[in-house]
Amino acid sequence: MTQTYRAIVIGGGVVGCSVLYHLAKAGWTDVLLIERAELTAGSTWHAAGGFHTLNGDPNVAALQAYTISLYEELEKMTGQSCGLHLVGGVQMADSPERLDFLRMAHARGRYLGMETELITPSEAKAMFPLMDESHFVGALWDPVEGHLDPSGTTHAYAKAARMLGAQIELRNPVHELTQDPDGTWNVVTQNGTYRAEHVVNAAGLWAREVGRMVGLELPVLAMEHMYLLTEPMPEVIEFNETMGRELIHVIDFKGEIYTRQEGKGILLGTYEQACKPWSPVNTPWDFGQDLLPPDLDRLAPSLEVGFRHFPPYERAGIKQIINGPFTFAPDGNPLVGPVPGLTNYWSACAVMAGFSQGGGVGLVLANWMTEGDPGHDVFGMDVARFGDWATLRYTNAKVRENYSRRFSIRFPNEELPAARPHLTTPLYDLMRAQHAVMGDTWGLETPLWFAPSAEEAHDIHSFHRSNDFAHVGAEVRAVRESVGVTEIANFAKYVVTGPGAEAFLDRLMTNRVPKPGRIVLTPMLNHAGKLIGDFTIARAGPERFQILGSLAATKYHLRWFEQHLPKDGSVQVRALGIELMGLSIAGPKSREVLAALVDEDVSNDAFRFMDYREMDVAGAPCRVNRITYTGDLGYEIWMPPEYQRRVYTAIKDAGAPHGIRDFGMRALLSMRLEKNFPTWFAELRPIYGPVEGAMERFVAWQKPDFIGREAALQERDQGPRLRRVSLIIEADGADAIADEPIWARVPDDPGTVTAPHSYGPPRFDAAGTRQPTPHPSVSGDWRVVGWVTSGGYGHHVGLSLAQGYLPAALATRTDPDLFEVEILGHRRPARIALDPPFDPTGAKMRS
Ligand SMILES: Cc1cc2nc3c(=O)[nH]c(=O)nc-3n(C[C@H](O)[C@H](O)[C@H](O)COP(=O)(O)OP(=O)(O)OC[C@H]3O[C@@H](n4cnc5c(N)ncnc54)[C@H](O)[C@@H]3O)c2cc1C
Repeated sequence: MTQTYRAIVIGGGVVGCSVLYHLAKAGWTDVLLIERAELTAGSTWHAAGGFHTLNGDPNVAALQAYTISLYEELEKMTGQSCGLHLVGGVQMADSPERLDFLRMAHARGRYLGMETELITPSEAKAMFPLMDESHFVGALWDPVEGHLDPSGTTHAYAKAARMLGAQIELRNPVHELTQDPDGTWNVVTQNGTYRAEHVVNAAGLWAREVGRMVGLELPVLAMEHMYLLTEPMPEVIEFNETMGRELIHVIDFKGEIYTRQEGKGILLGTYEQACKPWSPVNTPWDFGQDLLPPDLDRLAPSLEVGFRHFPPYERAGIKQIINGPFTFAPDGNPLVGPVPGLTNYWSACAVMAGFSQGGGVGLVLANWMTEGDPGHDVFGMDVARFGDWATLRYTNAKVRENYSRRFSIRFPNEELPAARPHLTTPLYDLMRAQHAVMGDTWGLETPLWFAPSAEEAHDIHSFHRSNDFAHVGAEVRAVRESVGVTEIANFAKYVVTGPGAEAFLDRLMTNRVPKPGRIVLTPMLNHAGKLIGDFTIARAGPERFQILGSLAATKYHLRWFEQHLPKDGSVQVRALGIELMGLSIAGPKSREVLAALVDEDVSNDAFRFMDYREMDVAGAPCRVNRITYTGDLGYEIWMPPEYQRRVYTAIKDAGAPHGIRDFGMRALLSMRLEKNFPTWFAELRPIYGPVEGAMERFVAWQKPDFIGREAALQERDQGPRLRRVSLIIEADGADAIADEPIWARVPDDPGTVTAPHSYGPPRFDAAGTRQPTPHPSVSGDWRVVGWVTSGGYGHHVGLSLAQGYLPAALATRTDPDLFEVEILGHRRPARIALDPPFDPTGAKMRS
């Protein structure tokens, strides 16, 4: 009889073995891993084995810290060595911009519990004497970096999993996956068919092919990657003998190089600019434990810099060049979680840094499979963060871009050019003709700001205020003083219909379902009472709702909606994507503009704040919300794409007497800061509760039932640990962006200052539970008490603004000289704005 497992993991690389271990540890011992060849036979066996905690996303960084903290535990449990070398590492800056970048990383580390330190090039040289420090201006030291033995580590995971009862079958390729009507998977292998409730795609180099077995085109691509090993070097041997320890790890941004000691010689790897995808369409099934031919020409430009920055390297003999493939998603982070649209098909692939991330991926996936929730904020690695637009060629272009920028700085105002334009709205060429600088939201081109001429229509990349500042300011002033128009296609739009629609939304959302013709704003919570969404819901009819949310979270939210649909077919949910286009007009004259285009009464009495109407606008059938994210009088107008140019042109004509001006996303975000409005992904994320996020007025506490109610009530009744605040900062040419630490002059630790995504030893206990991090950032009377989630300049109010989280006890303190925000290494005075700096009573949007 065919054996049925709780879960089958496909792939015995470091990731598959970690998933298997974590599933068994979570109590699912009836699990099987199937490997086509031997353990490590994909990209794992030839990895350089380096690991580090730093990652642009603090939530991903926390999981990397967990991964590293796991190795000693695995060794202890199994007796299998992971070959751990925890030597520490430096990132070397060769320019003031790169030093600014390191300053920001260091400042962020203050509230994450990291023990990084900004050091001089000479101090770095003392730990790595093979460098010529004259090429550098500064460095960031991180003690939690090192390298290990890839094979030993993979076998340690596998042994631990087996000790807990999991099984592993080698030399047995999976050929096919089919699903029975009851959801059971048939895993068809060379040795026969196995049945499983869940399948996990951890197929690494073949993840794309294992995706295709179920009709899925995962956005993942393998790249060739080279590192070289030198013969023993006298400089290395001398350092080891005199210092009694190993050389540290070094990242050299300028050379795109990572380097460290290996044996008595050196290992040097590069993320070369002339990078090369491997098997861009199909991965050959007969690819064994093979290396690819080295290509020194591709390495030459990086080596040239390397030889200058590390002069002894030029004299060293090259022992071996490793060239092997490994996989990336378009943004370089893994693809993890339940694949939207499928039942019990899980992704654990595109893990480009398996030895930094493999443990974290295993932990969150096992939590998700066994408990229904990843237990962490994993959006940065969620397989649902890409849409169907992430096609094979899109992925190819973006992965190449990401690879070649692995050690590049991403400036806060930098839009990456590869694969663009990808998705466009009917207004794209009109916007470009008006010198719009475009940005990319979830593959879709959106105007960011408008330049006065084609020559000026680009961003000068900077951590400081840049060339868009004055123009964004003029756009904001036009809206606040008269009227502006902007394209809002980059919102997610859903239609929920059916006799069960009202009950469905009532259970999913914290707020009450609106009456026909009305709008509500509402958070959505998970079962643990954490924020997993923030929506505008308009009731278009008794059984029809139009919902607006974050475009980038479309698949993430759709997956949740679909998981909670009643089984009786009484509710249908559809994401409209770019089937529906949007324009927003805002400002005191916006009503006059709308009135000129419609045949309906749109006076304040007839069309009130938070009303929804369907009406012809300039002769086009539109859906109109009387609400805008500017916090001013304004309207969101939604129409089918074929009408968008018509409506846009009519708005511009009707607005001409009022001096109407186009405005972009940057002006919109500036205006929402002036109103203290939070935004999804920044202020609102699954690590915060609704009271922490200051969203309680959108929670209908009297409702008898909604998902997360019990936990939210507990948060409210016990008092939140943290609280979202708005800050006014005395900035100096650079505004807060996100992740800056907030300092407070408080003699005693308020006791609640650990970031939910904090890391820094000790981080997790043996059960994988996050431990509070002792706070390292104290300076005299001052200590780091919180963090910024977003910031910018409020052009109408003339203030540098930010939002962030503070311990609840400090969140209402308005006394002067109490707070500072650290921006680019400088601590700037800041104060809490309890009321929005613009229109504190909300009279304007209601007028
Ligand atoms: C040159 C080089 C240097 C690197 N250096 C580092 C480094 O320093 N640090 C770091 O963290 N990472 C490094 N990496 C990346 C690291 O190797 C990967 O992150 C890691 O190996 C990914 O592991 P995986 O388990 O996802 O995939 P893989 O190792 O590719 O494992 C997938 C497994 O699935 C099996 N499989 C596939 N299809 C099937 C099927 N149909 N049936 C059964 N089994 C199947 C394969 O045989 C394979 O064993 C490097 C990679 C390369 C190439």
